[in-house]
Amino acid sequence: MAKRTRIIEGSWNCTSCDTRNIPARHRTCPHCNNPREETGQESEFEFGEVDATSGKALREGVNDEKALSAATAGADWFCDYCGASNRGDTPVCRNCRAERSATSRALSEEPDADEAPPPKVPPAPQRSSRKWLFLALMLPCFGGCLFFLWGSRTHGVTGTVVATEWTRTVQRESFQRVSKTGWRDELSTTSPRMPVNGAGEVAGVENIRDCTRRQRSTRRVADGTERVCEDKTRRVQCGSEEKCTRKKMGNGFMKEECEDVPKYCDESYEDCRTQTRYRTEPVYDLSCTYDTQAWTEVGPPALASGKDSAPRWPEVRLGSTDRLRREEKYLVRIEYKDGKLKQHELEPKDEAEFLSWRKGQSVSLQVSNLGGVSNVAQGEAVR
Ligand SMILES: [Zn+2]
Ligand SMILES: [Zn+2]
Repeated sequence: MAKRTRIIEGSWNCTSCDTRNIPARHRTCPHCNNPREETGQESEFEFGEVDATSGKALREGVNDEKALSAATAGADWFCDYCGASNRGDTPVCRNCRAERSATSRALSEEPDADEAPPPKVPPAPQRSSRKWLFLALMLPCFGGCLFFLWGSRTHGVTGTVVATEWTRTVQRESFQRVSKTGWRDELSTTSPRMPVNGAGEVAGVENIRDCTRRQRSTRRVADGTERVCEDKTRRVQCGSEEKCTRKKMGNGFMKEECEDVPKYCDESYEDCRTQTRYRTEPVYDLSCTYDTQAWTEVGPPALASGKDSAPRWPEVRLGSTDRLRREEKYLVRIEYKDGKLKQHELEPKDEAEFLSWRKGQSVSLQVSNLGGVSNVAQGEAVR
């Protein structure tokens, strides 16, 4: 797209007589005739307001030959002897006729805001408030950690086994005929195999009867179509807008280039499509009653218990298609003194472990400050 170029003339303030807004084309003050110099901010030009959206200068551009000639003369230089400003393309000072030397300073200007935007520095985090937040969060946690550390510290105490208990149950189970229901297509008549010494059994399927239709599942069935719409937004070009860049020329003039760039807007629209609609339908199938076999508990469990150190199984009579399910439970009760008299219970997992504990025997315990028992060993605590 074609660029539109304008030359904007800056203005300066005379520090000798305080005349303000002197056009840049004047190298001497029209009021007191003093030459423009580098000192006193005399050569820091003012270019007026700039439109924030487009970056376009609000000041009118200049087209006359004198201004354009001054604008294209290059950066100004300042005379070593009298300090006056001079056109970049003249070798001799217009004020005192001294020649431009290698040490003569050229005008250097701050780049304009949108030519070299200053690097964006994120606002410095407010250290002090962060530190306080950190402390505020950490203090309860720290306290919690200290409490946890104190609570988990252990000390050794000596205790005594005051009781041992055992309980054993035997449940008789019989491989018996039972009635069940099942889906017809999953049933086929087979004969059972009865267990030998409580193992090797296979349940049969016999006497399939009383079949009725029942709902077995559901299925999704296509049922026409439906239109589904969603509200969405998309970016579309909505005309164009002017964007300008500006560059200072080192002599009180500024070059501005503007062009029209596409402008984008959010547009909301309805995104619709046609999709298959479904309905849910029950699926029926034949459900039947049949005879089979299953391990079935017979009578209440037989129980034996004692506080001695000779656990035994209760007597149960076994039929030819029976099996026995055994359960055992052991308990060792320990008394110890930790401030006051306390009790701790151990549950040995089998008979051998249970038999290693004797009533009246000394044990050592590791007890935490919070009262939890972490370790129990046979024998006196080591002090
Ligand atoms: Zn003046
Ligand atoms: Zn001079």
